[in-house]
Amino acid sequence: MKLPDSNLLNGLNFSGGPGALPESVLRQVQESILAVPGVGLSILGISHRSDWFAAVVAELESNIRQLLGLSADYHVLFLQGGATQQFSMLPMTLLAGRTQPAEYLHTGYWSGKALPEARREGPVRVLWSGETEGFRRLPSDGELDFRADAPYLHYVSNETVEGLQFHRTLGRDDVPRICDMSSDFLSAPGEFDRYAMIYAHAQKNLGPAGVTVVVLKDELLREAPDNLPGFLDYRTQIAAHSIYNTPPVFSIYVVLLVSRWLRDEIGGLAAMDAINTRKAATIYRAIDASRGFYAGRAAQADRSRMNVAFNLPSPALEAEFIAAAQAAGFSGLAGHRSIGGIRASLYNGLKLTAAEKLADFMADFQSGRS
Ligand SMILES: *Cc1c(COP(=O)(O)O)cnc(C)c1O
Repeated sequence: MKLPDSNLLNGLNFSGGPGALPESVLRQVQESILAVPGVGLSILGISHRSDWFAAVVAELESNIRQLLGLSADYHVLFLQGGATQQFSMLPMTLLAGRTQPAEYLHTGYWSGKALPEARREGPVRVLWSGETEGFRRLPSDGELDFRADAPYLHYVSNETVEGLQFHRTLGRDDVPRICDMSSDFLSAPGEFDRYAMIYAHAQKNLGPAGVTVVVLKDELLREAPDNLPGFLDYRTQIAAHSIYNTPPVFSIYVVLLVSRWLRDEIGGLAAMDAINTRKAATIYRAIDASRGFYAGRAAQADRSRMNVAFNLPSPALEAEFIAAAQAAGFSGLAGHRSIGGIRASLYNGLKLTAAEKLADFMADFQSGRS
C-alpha cells in the first residue's frame, strides 16, 4: 500500500496545530500501524508494559536530553492532559500554600489561559501584560521588574496565536524559570539548562496530540505538597518513568520518530533553526514587500519564526485569500478563532519549499487586487 502523493496531502499544511509532520516520519508511522519493524505487532496494540515500550521511553528521554543539552539532574516526562494540564499541575506543585506571588507574563492568548488556573492555587503577580495593546509586542527587559522572592517565573516562549516569540531567556537565575514552549520546542538551540522546567505538548512541533513533554529539575520538587493526586504529582510520574497508568503509546512513538528525524536527517537544533529562520524570512519578506497589503501583527523585533500572523486590508479580502489559498492546495491558513486574520504556521515538519510556494502565492494574490 502506498500513500498518495504526500506533497499534496501534507506538504502545504500551515496549520497552527496539530501541525505538519515530516514525510519520512509519516511513512514510518504508516508502516507501524500494520506492524512495528522488529516487533511484528501494530503500534496500536502493543502493551505499554512491554520491554519494547520501556525502551521507546528511555530512548526518547535520552534523545530529548541530548537535543537540549541537559544533564541527568533533569527528569524528562511524557504526560497527558496537554499543555493545559500543566497550567494547573505546575501551580498545584509550586504555588499552593505560598504567600509570595508567582510571577506570570501575559503576552497573548496562551499565557492568558495559564493565569486563572494559577490563581486557583495561590497568589499571582502579572509582571507585564500586553492586553491593552492587543498583544502586538513583547516587553523589553526594562519593563520587567523580576523579584527575588517569587516562587517561580512563568512565561510562554512563543505565543502561537499572535505570532510573538521571545528571542532571549527571561528572568533571574535565582528564581525557578518555567516556560511553556509548546509551539517552539526543539525548533532552535537555546539556553535550556537555565530553566527549572520546560513543557511542550506534542501537537504543534513534535507529533500528534496526546502527549506533553515535561523537562524539570529534580530540586524543583523538594517542597512539593504530599497531598496531590498521584496522577498530578510529578514525583509519581518520575518514579513510574511516565508509565504510571496507560500512556499514549502511539503518540510517544511518533515523537520518538520525530526526535530521530531531527537528529539524524536534519542534523540537530542548529540545523533545524537555520531552516526555520529561512522559512520565516521568506514569509516576512513577502509581507514587507507588499507595501502594506499584508500587515504583520507582531512588532518586528518580536516576530515569531513559528507562527506568522498577518492581516489583509479587510475581512472580506482575508476570506477571499483563504478560499483562494485552499483552492491552490494550501491548508490551515485561517487565523485563530480568537483574533481571525491569517496565520501561517511554519513548524519543524514544514519544508522551506512550502514557505516559498506560499510567498509566491501571496505575491500573485496581491497583484490581482492592489
Ligand atoms: C496550543 C497551546 C496550548 C494548549 O495546549 P493543549 O495541549 O491543547 O492543552 C498551550 N500553550 C501554547 C503555547 C500553545 O500553543
